[in-house]
Amino acid sequence: MNKAFIREDVDANQGHCPRCGSLGLAVPPSAVRAQLGTEPGRGLSEAGYFCPFARCEVAYFDLFGGVVLAESLPRPIYPKDPLAPICPCFGLSLDDIEADVREGAPRRVRQLLADSRSSRARCAELSPTGQSCVGEVQRLYLRLRAEQQGQ
Ligand SMILES: [Zn+2]
Ligand SMILES: [Zn+2]
Repeated sequence: MNKAFIREDVDANQGHCPRCGSLGLAVPPSAVRAQLGTEPGRGLSEAGYFCPFARCEVAYFDLFGGVVLAESLPRPIYPKDPLAPICPCFGLSLDDIEADVREGAPRRVRQLLADSRSSRARCAELSPTGQSCVGEVQRLYLRLRAEQQGQ
């Protein structure tokens, strides 16, 4: 097995944020376009990545030095802005998940799971990562609940 070849192959599929070094999430061009609006000339190549680190100012980057800062996006996005909805299509925010945890019943999260399976769902289209928000919402709920139980 040629190790050099494998190394190159891995690098080609993984983008690290040029500012914070976080491993970026590969984002389909349609999702990047949906966040950037129609404004041309942003200088991001088709293979875009999302930096998932909340405190990093970079929202999107590519492997050729192109960078889009979160503050330059037309709408605030989660987690760069903790108050922005996690699910842009149904508007579920961290506040809602925290309220579910406080009340001891995931009423809002359950509603989102149901909504996300409906024909109104545009999660993959509207979310900054181009992936459905459901996974992130469930992960956050479980983490916040575990934190509450640990207190
Ligand atoms: Zn970053
Ligand atoms: Zn959603």
